[in-house]
Amino acid sequence: MSPRSYVGEARKRVGPKKQRVVPVIDRLAVEHADAKIALGFTNALELLISVMLSAQTTDVNVNRVTEKLFVKYRRPEDYLAVPVEELEQDIFATGFYRQKAKSLRGAMQRIIEVHDGEVPESFDDLLKLPGVARKTANVVSAERGNAQGIVVDTHVRRVSQRLGFTKQEDPVKIERDLVKLVPRGDWARFPHLLIWHGRRICDARRPACEVCPLAPDLCPSSRV
Ligand code: SF4
Repeated sequence: MSPRSYVGEARKRVGPKKQRVVPVIDRLAVEHADAKIALGFTNALELLISVMLSAQTTDVNVNRVTEKLFVKYRRPEDYLAVPVEELEQDIFATGFYRQKAKSLRGAMQRIIEVHDGEVPESFDDLLKLPGVARKTANVVSAERGNAQGIVVDTHVRRVSQRLGFTKQEDPVKIERDLVKLVPRGDWARFPHLLIWHGRRICDARRPACEVCPLAPDLCPSSRV
């Protein structure tokens, strides 16, 4: 059988993605009942800073840095009150510390000047903060119960592709496919479920299909 017909057979076996998406979410929610954001924070400002620092590094690394950072820097003003070199030193271990320090200070400046020192609620206002890209705004909004889109990271991309939910490679196009498919009420938890599933079971190199709750009936890429 050619690879193309094999894929076609697999798609026929599991049925259309529109019918599978809710059962997929239900099963993953049981399997990964503890799936939630892995960053540590106690308020909106700490959430924003943690997400900004998490670019190009692990959540564990960010948590190690923010444990001390959030004791020293409590308000947006605190990030501007020290020399930039001191802030760079304090976030050094998260990598790209010069760019991140610049972004943090820019974002804090705007929060003070335009938003009375509060992290804005609106997605568009979040996007206007220096150094805040769509992914950061998405994560922050979702954690505050106001998901405006679906966060796409490397796990969400891989698992969505394996499940046949998207054929795209570009995160923006993947998100476009997913928001059409996933019920809006699940936009916030969907990425957490896929991230935890990707870490624990649907590994990039060795997906553990033999223990996967989506195999074989809900996943066209199942090897069992
Ligand atoms: S069946 Fe295999 S490929 Fe499909 S989601 Fe599960 S682990 Fe991943």
